[in-house]
Amino acid sequence: MRTPLIAGNWKMHDTLSEARSLVTGLVEGLDAACGVEVLICPAFQLLFPMAKAIADTPIQMGAQNAHEATHGAFTGEVSVPMIAETGATQVIIGHSERRHVFGEKGDQLNKKVRAVVSGGLTAIYCVGETLEEREAGKTKDVVRRQMDEVVGSDVPADKLVIAYEPVWAIGTGKTATPQQAQEVHAFLRGQLAEIYDATTAETIRILYGGSVKPGNAADLMGQSDIDGALVGGASLVAADFLAIIAAAAAAVPAS
Ligand code: PEP
Repeated sequence: MRTPLIAGNWKMHDTLSEARSLVTGLVEGLDAACGVEVLICPAFQLLFPMAKAIADTPIQMGAQNAHEATHGAFTGEVSVPMIAETGATQVIIGHSERRHVFGEKGDQLNKKVRAVVSGGLTAIYCVGETLEEREAGKTKDVVRRQMDEVVGSDVPADKLVIAYEPVWAIGTGKTATPQQAQEVHAFLRGQLAEIYDATTAETIRILYGGSVKPGNAADLMGQSDIDGALVGGASLVAADFLAIIAAAAAAVPAS
């Protein structure tokens, strides 16, 4: 039984006062016993103050990126030990904006995931195809390659989350149908079974990301291989993020 994870990727949004007000709304509205793990991923400069804002709440915090080295002459970069020091426990690696806007590629992402897990944090590794690749029938080839480039049995399974984010659905308002998403998630779980084993693959969470909103979250979260969501735009509005968390909670089978 995988505990759903709803992760908010704040991207390059929110000043400190905006972030404080967003977190206040989340803390006030969150049902701590809802059975869903909740993660916020603010920009780097917000990590220390947001750690303070979520102290004594069940909300977890992650970063949106990390450099693969622990320290050095890398102007403008932030390392895993620096992130860990803030209290963050997770790092998003390979988000499509990192791949497509900043040119990050498989070999670098491989190093980044290993740096994250070596630093004791959990890597949320993102994969996903472009619209052109989907229309050419290459979705599974693309995500298989992105997984092969980075995920290996040396990455501890309990420090790994996969996020399937079709590039054409991120920030566009277009969402994969629950069936389209489930098909890719099941394929990814099959690949995890090849890399680890079937039992271990059942323990690894696979999140869906791409224009998740209160109105489509329930159908997506109801799919057997969708274990939560990586949410961009809707994570910046407390009421919307809380509604997505509630949809994930409602999809958890009663025990
Ligand atoms: C994201 O940033 O990972 C994302 C999925 O964004 P959005 O929800 O806005 O599509």
